[in-house]
Amino acid sequence: MKILLVEDNEAIILGLQYLLEQEGYTCQVARRRREAERMAAGETPDLLLLDIGLPDGDGYQLCQTFRQQYTFPVIFLTAREEEEDVVRAFDLGADDYIIKPFRNRELLSRIRNVLRRGGREQEVLQCGHITLEVESGRVRVSGEEVTLTKLEYKILSSMMSCPGKLFTRDEILSDVWDISGNFVNDNTLSVTIKRLREKLGDGEGRIIKTVRGMGYRMER
Ligand code: CA
Repeated sequence: MKILLVEDNEAIILGLQYLLEQEGYTCQVARRRREAERMAAGETPDLLLLDIGLPDGDGYQLCQTFRQQYTFPVIFLTAREEEEDVVRAFDLGADDYIIKPFRNRELLSRIRNVLRRGGREQEVLQCGHITLEVESGRVRVSGEEVTLTKLEYKILSSMMSCPGKLFTRDEILSDVWDISGNFVNDNTLSVTIKRLREKLGDGEGRIIKTVRGMGYRMER
């Protein structure tokens, strides 16, 4: 996660950079508005921490410019605590507004919150060499994206969310019934599992294991 800190106060820069890096974030610093624009264009950050009073402009203008071009979240970090300043920031699309002096743990917690809301900490399910990104619905096998039918995807995502659990055929069938609205019979399920395994490069059923007479289990 890359955070771009736009701030001109050296003491704050020093403290924040240390804090963010301790927390595992990559922190880049822009001390001026122009510099921030250049840096965001080069390597898009995952989040922007934005001071209002900058030597060559103000944070509001910057927020406005960025909102038109990028989707990353913006947190204002400023000593201005007037209601009108806060409202103006939110009107410009700020994701949060933190007043200096701030408390470190609270700041980190708000950063996490904003990143989570932005869907940037995307939940990824993983079983062996298969990954499933919950929000985008992308499934990859050894990094290569594969296209699944709705039915295949539904079965895979249920199983991947509980690896190691036995899914009985009845359980899967009733689950699938809800999304397709069509009756899926036992034979269709077997065929679907077979195709799913082929797409996952699991022709031999090592990842989606057959539990004889019962159902299926996803190996971790
Ligand atoms: Ca300042």
